[in-house]
Amino acid sequence: MEKEAPMKTVEEFIKDFEYDANELYEALSVSTDEYVYVCDMRRRTIRYPADMVEEFGLPGEVVQDPLPCWKDIIHKDDWNVFYETNMESFSGELIHHVVEYRAKNKKGTYVWLQCRGAVVKDKDGEPYLFAGFISNLGKRNRIDHQTGLFNKYEFQSRIESWLKEGKNLPFGVLFLGVDNFKHVNELYNREFGDEVLRILSQKMQSVLPYNAECYRLDGDEFGVLIKDTTKEELQECYSLIRKAFDRQQSFRGNKYYCTISCGGCMAPGDGRQYLELARCAEYSLDYSKRHGKNRSTFYSSEIAVDFSRSLELTELLRESVEHGFEGFSLVYQPQVDAAEGRIKGVEALLRWKCGKYGAMVPSDFIPLLEESGLIRQVGKWVMREAAAVVSRWNRYIKDLTMSINISYHQVICPRDEGPGEDVFSYLLPLLTQQQVNLNNIILEFTESYVASDLEDLREKLNGVRRKGIKVAIDDFGVGYSSLGVLKEAPVDLVKIDRVFIKGIEKDDFDAAFIKLVTALCHQVGVRVCQEGVETKEECDRVCRMGPDYIQGFYYSRPVTEQEIFEKYICPKDPL
Ligand code: C2E
Ligand code: MG
Ligand code: MG
Repeated sequence: MEKEAPMKTVEEFIKDFEYDANELYEALSVSTDEYVYVCDMRRRTIRYPADMVEEFGLPGEVVQDPLPCWKDIIHKDDWNVFYETNMESFSGELIHHVVEYRAKNKKGTYVWLQCRGAVVKDKDGEPYLFAGFISNLGKRNRIDHQTGLFNKYEFQSRIESWLKEGKNLPFGVLFLGVDNFKHVNELYNREFGDEVLRILSQKMQSVLPYNAECYRLDGDEFGVLIKDTTKEELQECYSLIRKAFDRQQSFRGNKYYCTISCGGCMAPGDGRQYLELARCAEYSLDYSKRHGKNRSTFYSSEIAVDFSRSLELTELLRESVEHGFEGFSLVYQPQVDAAEGRIKGVEALLRWKCGKYGAMVPSDFIPLLEESGLIRQVGKWVMREAAAVVSRWNRYIKDLTMSINISYHQVICPRDEGPGEDVFSYLLPLLTQQQVNLNNIILEFTESYVASDLEDLREKLNGVRRKGIKVAIDDFGVGYSSLGVLKEAPVDLVKIDRVFIKGIEKDDFDAAFIKLVTALCHQVGVRVCQEGVETKEECDRVCRMGPDYIQGFYYSRPVTEQEIFEKYICPKDPL
């Protein structure tokens, strides 16, 4: 048997094997897609490979004092990080060097580069060698790892190349945004959110037509491009997506509900440059999100006007909040006992008035309050006002209830506000301080939220319910409506959305829905309120289906505290 050669140490290997530095450099360069660089730090000269010199138009393969020659090539937003990291490496402060930046190639396109390297010191501790690799991320990293889709840089370069290649060839750009994705992330966790995004992207691709290209943009946004298309075709494309997401999904036993909003525009009609088109699609997506979500909007000049108006309104709202909630007020709409027609409570509804635009209804400003986070402060103000009002009224009618709308954003608080800073921990001390009977407070949450099977939320809601506060599901029937949720949802009252009232005369489904929900709720001890009753006919018909309470313009529009007081609490001429 042949004898095994004795193992050599690294030291022995080096001693026995002298090799040429240039040949090593060449061998490494041809073996990798990355750019290999080596720097003689004592003389401040650096060697770059020929293909890198060519790509970025560098002065030569060997550059003396390299930093200034990069000044015009590196994106101005990345210059500081590039410069500082290099200075730290050159001074020997930083041994391991990792930095990413955008650099402009000879064609004028910025590409992302990632530079990794290490500094080697001599026996006196002086840095003398600095070497490593520069990866061209813009060239190679075209895929978003999470979803497997092409990434936003590809999206941009695709649009740019289409614009260049066919000057008048129409193509469509869609931005798709996952509605309330923050809920998924905050209610579960980021990993779960990442998985959801992956599943969403697969589902989206599976319903898109073969000629549509799907990209992952930032965060919870996706881009779709379709060449040689029409607005109608784009709309059809969105309908397919909307349909696929219009129901509850489940992953690892957790249920979630993510609808998709869309903003679209057409090239070259809406823009002849990438940034113009991206802006049109982004504004349109924002419009869809602010006007109810789960819908599409196509760009027009009004969309841009609306976008800048919403920025302005958000600023005005912020000013109002800072000036002691100036311009905010509450109006109250009676909720009436269906059997006797007597007032049993009111719902507090927010209004806002500003000097420039006058009086506004919630659909104009609540989405802005929610987006900007101001809803948490305004929500507390609503609770304070409503608590003070009901405590005054309860001196006259002991069991008159006050319903308060609570937005999702008030329940989930950002991490920087610390644990426990949610609506419940604020409300309970407030009600005690104002001496409000907890049995007279109803908190209204929208359906998708209360119906989610989240242990944590269920526990919170049950916690306040044990203290006597009631919980209602608002606008029931327009979310993902699995009637099964009624069995276990931690609620005392279900408010059936007003869309069902509209069809009660002619649509058998709507009438049957109201009847069924009412019967189901009563089976499990949950009360029912029918919203949006406008006429006597509607009232008569719906009352036959057995709801406990009625709310709507037929009895009263939302009115001021004074009007409620004079009409119902302490009438001069008792009704
Ligand atoms: P909501 O909680 O479902 O409130 C009922 C809405 O239906 C009110 O609209 C009310 O004016 C309207 N309404 C009542 N009866 C009728 C009717 O017979 N016919 C028709 N067509 N409409 C009727 P409003 O005041 O514009 O409020 C809209 C939504 O804004 C509310 O829907 C609620 O989700 C939200 N909102 C209002 N105030 C607050 C608040 O203080 N905080 C939060 N987070 N949301 C609020
Ligand atoms: Mg409500
Ligand atoms: Mg409602």
